[in-house]
Amino acid sequence: MPRGLFARAFLILIIPTILVQATSIYVFYERHWESVSRNMAETLAGEISTIVTLIEDASPKEREKILRAASNFMKIDIEFISREKIPAEQISDGNYNFLLRTIRNNLDNQVVVTDARQAGYIVVNVATKKGVLRFITTSKKLENPTTYIFISWLIGSAVIFFFISLIFLRNQIRPITSLSEAAEKFGKGFDMPYIKPSGAIEVRKATAAFITMSKRIKRQVNQRFEMLAGISHDLRTPLTRMKLELAMLDKSEAVKGLEDDVSEMQRMVDGYINFVKGEGKEQPITTNLNNFLAEIVQKYDRMGKNIDFAPNSLVADCEIRQNAVSRAITNIIDNAIRYADKVSVALEKTENSVAIIVDDNGLGIPDNEKNKIFRAFYRVDKSRNSQTGGVGLGLTIARDIAITHGGDIEVSDSPIGGARFIFRIAII
Ligand code: ADP
Repeated sequence: MPRGLFARAFLILIIPTILVQATSIYVFYERHWESVSRNMAETLAGEISTIVTLIEDASPKEREKILRAASNFMKIDIEFISREKIPAEQISDGNYNFLLRTIRNNLDNQVVVTDARQAGYIVVNVATKKGVLRFITTSKKLENPTTYIFISWLIGSAVIFFFISLIFLRNQIRPITSLSEAAEKFGKGFDMPYIKPSGAIEVRKATAAFITMSKRIKRQVNQRFEMLAGISHDLRTPLTRMKLELAMLDKSEAVKGLEDDVSEMQRMVDGYINFVKGEGKEQPITTNLNNFLAEIVQKYDRMGKNIDFAPNSLVADCEIRQNAVSRAITNIIDNAIRYADKVSVALEKTENSVAIIVDDNGLGIPDNEKNKIFRAFYRVDKSRNSQTGGVGLGLTIARDIAITHGGDIEVSDSPIGGARFIFRIAII
């Protein structure tokens, strides 16, 4: 069974139609058509037998009368052939055979039926006591041409109605398809395409409900985003004030420690605000990921940092927010460079997604930290990071970007010794 709604609906429609048509054609052909054809053959056989019986014992005058009556009223022309022997030509197909047998049953005479279907008439030769009688009449007396017209109409009308329902079916299924496409895009974090509720009332309702739901979710997400951004923004002022106040105090150990903490808090808040600023406005564009990654790698090359990159021609173009993805990948590569001297980037394609794989040969990430590193402001080794200046937001942002591309980010152990980051993007 096909799995698609269109194909299924199509089968539900077409199978009964074909069955009904086939049954009616069969019943008609088997029963009705055959009995009508037999009746016609029987009637003609009866007419011929009657004429033969009458003519055999008739006087020449009566014979003339009979011949005229047959020609006028029965549309059968009759000729006398003097030859004793009748032509040997004989046919034995369906109706003609039946006609022959019926005449033979009625009379004892020798009978031969000649088929001349193409020419539109039939010839029946009957040997009588008075010589051979040749009956010539139209083949319509045996054939029923309306049968074929009937069957063609039956099939023709079925085909026409079938195409009409096909068009209706398509129109009913299109809104469901576009609803599911929109839901998929929305679920993968892309901007939802514009959809208009259309089709049957149930589908319209579902589409309208989906539009309302997606708007509500968007509003909720934005509200939280803005709230956090607001808090971060408002924290900047007291932090600056604290910094100034600390600067005015005597430089004791405790004051120095506090100053460091305040600076770090400031960097965290700035990091978050920077992230929030760029979010949500960028539109996805179709991108060739091989070229896109090659460009990122070249940037590192220019900075004197060599990164291996193996393009993968199997990877098709993807819809991505270029700045966001570039930011995420740059962050992963920056981390790798920070902790390792050998870094490589690769592209891999799976059925529904594309994976950008970044390997390094650095310290790696302990198993119990693998899940935690994606949390905001989380750092594996605090002292290691304060030297390098990270606030622990890079991977959090990278994960967020992966999720808004319908993917995710994973970390595992790299075959070259350090950490392996897999940044996945859904293919739409
Ligand atoms: P940061 O700003 O500190 O780099 P990230 O969120 O980018 O923050 O990274 C979180 C932590 O994950 C880092 O502090 C580091 O300890 C660890 N980490 C990230 N990438 C690697 C890597 N390639 N090798 C080892 N540790 C890493």
